[in-house]
Amino acid sequence: MTANRQMPTAAIRHDWTRQQVLDLFAMPFNDLLFTAQQVHRTHFDANRVQVSTLCSIKTGACPEDCAYCPQSARYDTGLEREKLMKVEKVLEEARAAKAGGATRFCMGAAWRSPKKKDMPYVTEMVRGVKALGLETCMTLGMLNDEQAKELADAGLDYYNHNLDTSPEYYGEIITTRTYQDRLETLDRVRTAGMKVCAGGIIGMGEGEQDRAGLLVQLANLPEHPESVPINMLVKVAGTPLEDERDLDPFEFIRCIAVARIVMPKSHVRLSAGREHMSDEMQALAFLAGANSIFYGEKLLTTPNPETNRDMQLFNRLGIQPEEYHQHADEAEAEAELSGRIAEQQQDPYFYNAVK
Ligand code: SF4
Repeated sequence: MTANRQMPTAAIRHDWTRQQVLDLFAMPFNDLLFTAQQVHRTHFDANRVQVSTLCSIKTGACPEDCAYCPQSARYDTGLEREKLMKVEKVLEEARAAKAGGATRFCMGAAWRSPKKKDMPYVTEMVRGVKALGLETCMTLGMLNDEQAKELADAGLDYYNHNLDTSPEYYGEIITTRTYQDRLETLDRVRTAGMKVCAGGIIGMGEGEQDRAGLLVQLANLPEHPESVPINMLVKVAGTPLEDERDLDPFEFIRCIAVARIVMPKSHVRLSAGREHMSDEMQALAFLAGANSIFYGEKLLTTPNPETNRDMQLFNRLGIQPEEYHQHADEAEAEAELSGRIAEQQQDPYFYNAVK
């Protein structure tokens, strides 16, 4: 038995060392998945997955140089650029997402950071989407204090800003903003009172040291991000990473499992790259503790499995879409949860695995 298997597994910690996280990565695969599943069940209903829909509200022509991104103006990827979407069009998409079963609507704009003139539009979108009864999330690039406050005042629930990779590997991927810039935006989001969505991308040529480094950064933030998207690189022709070698799927699953162990109460999200995963790989990711997906035909500009394939998979696995956040260690939430389960059985989106 390895030493790390003696560690308390479900505790919330902010003092992970890189070596401890590497020890988790080094566990035999079955032991790692078993540990992750135990941690998962301490805080979540293991058969529920949160469903978000992502909408690109402004596409392409981004001045940044993120090596994986088809939206960077520096790479010729054939992507059609689009201006900021009209508020009414965003609301139309949000209504369709809600009708499709999503509970959170994420709006992404390819910007270095929003401009002053953009803020009235994006805050209007937040208000409109919230009024439809959906949770709201935005990813607009770096924020200053004032912008973070404006978004929080509009009622934005989550702000997404990924760390992407370890601090050491970061310079191989992005040169136009620093790691510290990213940490500062996350801090502003938190200070303004919004929930944090922050994760990274696996398969960009980084090593296990870097995957561990990314997870240490996220887990040692003063508060764990409520949402942790773990993306698998989508190799887009025209970007510097188009010829990156394929990632061993088990390495990806390990990363999900370690994220679950070091951030026990966060929603770990399967994000970009899901369309290249077999149903079996996605099922393994859920077993490893992933409990959130992006659902919809497009994940910003890269394809996402068609929604009905997702629902068929949920049905085959006996997974039900999560309606609200649930933390099993809160007595009140437990009581509420039983009520919700009964309510959900009446819902048209309730999937009964027994039938
Ligand atoms: S990841 Fe975001 S910031 Fe980087 S190039 Fe793409 S849209 Fe711009």
